[in-house]
Amino acid sequence: MVKITRHALESALHGAKELHPDEFLCVFASDDGSVFDRILLTPLADYGPTHASFNDYFMPTGGFKASFHSHPNGVLQPSRQDLTLFSAKGAFHAIAGPPYTKQNLVFFDKQGKKVEFTPEKDGSVTLQYQ
Ligand SMILES: [Zn+2]
Repeated sequence: MVKITRHALESALHGAKELHPDEFLCVFASDDGSVFDRILLTPLADYGPTHASFNDYFMPTGGFKASFHSHPNGVLQPSRQDLTLFSAKGAFHAIAGPPYTKQNLVFFDKQGKKVEFTPEKDGSVTLQYQ
């Protein structure tokens, strides 16, 4: 089971809102690999209207498992570049569009297939991901 806490999720959505109309990118961090309770921003990240990227050098040792980025144009589908990144790194990836709420949030697996999630009462979400 993979859970993203309300704090982590709201931090990511807030970042997306702040950077709009530029694209925002971060990773979800976890101590145990299943509960993601915070986000990591990297130095020298590059945010633009149609892309965002970060320097791998600043990624946590061992890479990351979960990424988040925004699509300011509201298209909640991975781009071709996204699919390349998804297949190379991480296990699941969130894409959010304006107005950056849980209703405009989609999770994908490595293959770019949609991963369903369940909103919990405490504001966290649980991913139907093995
Ligand atoms: Zn994208």
